[in-house]
Amino acid sequence: MAAEQLAEFEQFRGELRSFIEGSCPDGARGQGEIAGGGKKFPTTDPDLKRWMDACSERGLTVPMWPKEYGGADLGKEEFMIWIEELRQARARTPLAGMGTGLIGPTILEYGTHEQKLRHLVPISRGEFRWCQGYSEPSAGSDLASLRTRAEDKGDHFLVNGQKIWTSGAQVADWIFVLVRTDPDVPKHEGISFLLMDMDQPGITPRPIQLISGNSPFCETFFDNAIGRKDDLLGEINKGWTVGKRLLQHERSSISSLVGGQRRDPGPRLADVAKRYLGDDEGRIAHAEVRARVIHNELSGEAFRLTQKRTVEETKEATTPGPATSMFKVYGTELTQQRIELMRQIRGVQGLGWDGDMFSEEEKENVRSWLSSRAMSIYSGSNEIQRNIIAKRVLGLPD
Ligand SMILES: Cc1cc2nc3c(=O)[nH]c(=O)nc-3n(C[C@H](O)[C@H](O)[C@H](O)COP(=O)(O)OP(=O)(O)OC[C@H]3O[C@@H](n4cnc5c(N)ncnc54)[C@H](O)[C@@H]3O)c2cc1C
Repeated sequence: MAAEQLAEFEQFRGELRSFIEGSCPDGARGQGEIAGGGKKFPTTDPDLKRWMDACSERGLTVPMWPKEYGGADLGKEEFMIWIEELRQARARTPLAGMGTGLIGPTILEYGTHEQKLRHLVPISRGEFRWCQGYSEPSAGSDLASLRTRAEDKGDHFLVNGQKIWTSGAQVADWIFVLVRTDPDVPKHEGISFLLMDMDQPGITPRPIQLISGNSPFCETFFDNAIGRKDDLLGEINKGWTVGKRLLQHERSSISSLVGGQRRDPGPRLADVAKRYLGDDEGRIAHAEVRARVIHNELSGEAFRLTQKRTVEETKEATTPGPATSMFKVYGTELTQQRIELMRQIRGVQGLGWDGDMFSEEEKENVRSWLSSRAMSIYSGSNEIQRNIIAKRVLGLPD
């Protein structure tokens, strides 16, 4: 890299550092909530809102998007500098969710200029929260079997059917939906991709009550719901290609490859092991635990370096293709392994849900441990990712 360019990057780093120092309140640093945007569930924490707005003004909620669509037009190297500076300052991602991470990048690739202006700018400002209408009661891993039907009524689509496991549908302003527009052709060829306004009588999200009492996702019913013609993303009956690309953005986001949320990872595994199982000299006393901790930490470091190399080697500043499945599998399994090991190290203290007997950190670990089980299921289960790797990355026969 030329010395001149290096100097420019260093100057850019300095500008970002002062911006973060001056604009990121303490309440938007360290572990905790990340602003998700939207009209129905706006961010109530003033620090998060201030941080989101300050970044949005500079295009930094979606740093690599073009300026006219709400971004900052950052190149890959500048984006990496932004991430490094956020990490250094323990500043949280200013805005996250399906808008910035999933549908936004997909609209950037497949949308018309008018669609980009109408949808991307509000996403960049945190005005709309989005949800994902893919899975159906009889279409999960075999997603192309979906049956939600969209009929062409001339000036609009009429949508009928049901989706399930729609995360956050009860608080979403918009939904992106895979619909069947031609039932008489092979199943992958009759699917289209629609963007739909949730605020209409034809769409009803019903929260699914979980054993924990939470309702993070819904069944979503479409009864003569209206889809605008100019909200068809990509061509009619070519939605499978668009839908698959969105999943690559989702997997990239989950594994923090390009975009995605960057949370403070919380206490280090080795530190937790030393605290609970340390000997007099502060070392991890059990040889086997020591070996497992070292293995997980080194694998994590190797994973981060591989992510960095992959982003550097990707020509465009965008999400790689089917290789995202490898990062999804490895990243989610490594995280599950780390959280499980942390829970085991804490012994009985690693099983607390409530009460004074357990510290907040211990309770948080149990919650993370339970929710981490879902990582290998959502965005296509890890078994399905292995099928994709076999076919699309390694080129093995069906
Ligand atoms: C927390 C969470 C949030 C979610 N949010 C959303 C959302 O917002 N929107 C949305 O549309 N969906 C969402 N989902 C649904 C998710 O995408 C599906 O659960 C997932 O695709 C698996 O589908 P399924 O549950 O129907 O399982 P199934 O497809 O019935 O699979 C059951 C088991 O069989 C295995 N299996 C199936 N087929 C194969 C095969 N060919 N080869 C090998 N193994 C196979 C699977 O790996 C799995 O272990 C969410 C799921 C979770 C857990």
